[in-house]
Order: sequence, then C-alpha cells, then structure tokens
Amino acid sequence: MTYIAKAQRYQEMQYRHCGNSGLKLPALSLGLWHNFGDVDVYENYKAILKLAFDNGITHFDLANNYGPPAGSAEENFGRILHQDFKNYRDELVISTKAGYYMWEGPYGDWGSKKYLVSSLNQSLKRMKLDYVDIFYHHRPDPETPLEETMAALDLVVRQGKALYVGLSNYKTPEFEKAIAILKDLGTPCIIHQPKYSMFERWVEDSLLDALEKYQVGCIPFSPLAQGLLTNKYLKGIPEDSRLAKEHGFLNAEYATPDKIEKVKILNTIAEERGQTLAQMAIAWLLKDDRVTSVLVGASKPAQLADSLTALDNIIFEENELKEIERILR
Ligand code: NDP
Repeated sequence: MTYIAKAQRYQEMQYRHCGNSGLKLPALSLGLWHNFGDVDVYENYKAILKLAFDNGITHFDLANNYGPPAGSAEENFGRILHQDFKNYRDELVISTKAGYYMWEGPYGDWGSKKYLVSSLNQSLKRMKLDYVDIFYHHRPDPETPLEETMAALDLVVRQGKALYVGLSNYKTPEFEKAIAILKDLGTPCIIHQPKYSMFERWVEDSLLDALEKYQVGCIPFSPLAQGLLTNKYLKGIPEDSRLAKEHGFLNAEYATPDKIEKVKILNTIAEERGQTLAQMAIAWLLKDDRVTSVLVGASKPAQLADSLTALDNIIFEENELKEIERILR
C-alpha cells in the first residue's frame, strides 16, 4: 500500500535555522550509520523512517560507508525513498559524506578532489538521486591541501550535485581555515557535525563559540553515546544491543563500570524530571541554541518515539544542571 505521511507531521516538531543559512532543520534528525545496512531488517528500518517523517523529522543523515556492508545504507534508503517517499523528496533534507575508507587504492579515502567527487557520484547512484541537500567532508585529511578539499565541496555545489556543504570532525583551528576558504569560493559551510554528548564534550572548549561567531549550524552526532546514555545498559548488556553486535562500533572498553555508574545516577535525575535518560540526554544538548539539530540513531521505532518525546521538555533548572555536572566530573 502506498505510504501517505501523517497530515499533522509538522505540528509538533521544532525547526531551527542552520547557522545563517536559509535552511531549517528539525530539532531531531535521524542518522543511518547503524541499523539500515544489509545486515538489518528491511521492515524494521522502513518503519523507523516512516515514524520519523510522520513526526516531522525531515532530515536523514547518511555517508558513503554506512552499512554494513559499506554503501548498503544508502542503497536501502534509496529503495525506500523511491518506493514510499517519492512524493516527498522536496520535504526532505538528505545528507551524505565522504572522508573515510570506501574503496581500495589511493582514491577511495581521505580528502582529495578525486575521491570526494567520485564518492558523491557513487552515493547519488546508490540512492538514485540527482542531488543531496548537504554534502560533508567526513574528517580532515592531513595530507591533502585544505584548498583542494574545499574546492571539491565548492565544485559539487556548482555541479548541482549538492545544495549545501558541511564539515565533520574538524577541530576549531582547521575548521576556521576551511570555512574561510569556502567563503572565498562562494560556497559557505552551513553546518558542522561533531561528536557531542554528556560524555564527549570537546566541542565546548572552543568549537561552539566558533560556530556561533561564524554563524554555522551544529548537529551533534552520537548524542546518546551510541546507546550508553539510555536505560539500555542499566542491568547488563542486552543481546540485541550495539555493544553485543559483532558489527557494532560501540566497544566494551568505552562502556566502563565507571561510566555505567554515572549512567545509573543520571537516570535517577531523568526520572525526577519525568523523562527517560535518552530524552534527558537529547534535551541537554538542545538547551543550547547553538545546537541546530540533534542527530540520533535508533534500532527500533519505539526508541525513536522515546527520543522524540525529549522535545516536550528541553528546559533545565540551574540545580539540575549543577547536579549533572557534578556526576559527569
Ligand atoms: P546515538 O548516540 O543516538 O545512538 C543510537 C543507538 O542508541 C541506537 O542504535 C540504539 O542502540 C540506542 N538507542 C537510541 N535511542 C534509544 C532509546 N530511546 N532507548 C534506548 N536505546 C536507544 O547515535 P549514533 O551513534 O547512532 O549516531 C547517530 C548518527 O550520527 C549516525 O547514524 C550518523 O548519521 C551520525 N554519525 C556521524 C559520525 C561522523 O563521523 N560524522 C560518526 C558517528 C555517527 P541499540 O542498537 O543498542 O539498540
């Protein structure tokens, strides 16, 4: 049966301007790094995508290498897009990236123009799209001149293969150099995608200030620390969790007893706020209006439904924030 999106899909979601661009992003966006590969269940991830869009999540984030196998998340997303979402393309913001290893030889990794342009062409084929809305350089390349990588981003916009460009995993000094080059080229960087959560706070040192200064949007990835900042691991490691999966990127060294102890205490604060821990972790990021959108993952529709409810309360009392700081210290 043809999918018809919920008529009220735009009523609950908040949309924030991405930096000083004209593009608005939903406060919550969905990432397809895990859970959308060929190892995953088609009906399940299709249900996640529909639930997302039905609730005003218009932004879906991909990369060339998402799967496994690499490329399969884009293929699977493309299939669903053409089967179920084809009437909604203009209501969607689809992003992809290149910068990590994708294919053998010297042209399938890092930041050369050769790699970025070829990779985006491949991504468009896999998703059967004419263009993506945002194309990112996925990580800085210490061996390619920044001018070349930024020229590649500028080129794909001029070719009509991407509408906007973004940077991911760039530290502040290299980010500042990169955006200056992009500005000169006439293709401004509208968004930065850093790892940011209660457990990963490097962006607070200087990146958030720089994003504000240059009016670039911010979309934190792994806001739930890949599932640790939820109630999932309070009583051990569930079989169906990312930590237990062979192809999951969450490794046991990261889920230390000390972290789990912190998670337990954070969970009690969340309960006192009338939220789940996942909701509180998302709200904690959204309380800062320099954050444009929080980029979550979900392995089940129920998880996404839980995360969406975070938007009902993103305000924190001073004493709650102090208590959270004390626990995280
Ligand atoms: P999260 O920190 O949101 O982790 C998502 C995982 O947490 C889910 O797969 C699920 O794990 C668990 N989870 C989610 N919601 C709940 C809930 N409500 N209750 C309990 N458990 C929950 O984000 P990701 O690490 O998945 O990253 C999100 C996106 O960010 C990626 O898809 C990608 O688009 C982007 N990203 C970008 C990177 C970059 O370098 N630019 C790097 C990494 C990610 P489980 O499977 O255990 O159920």
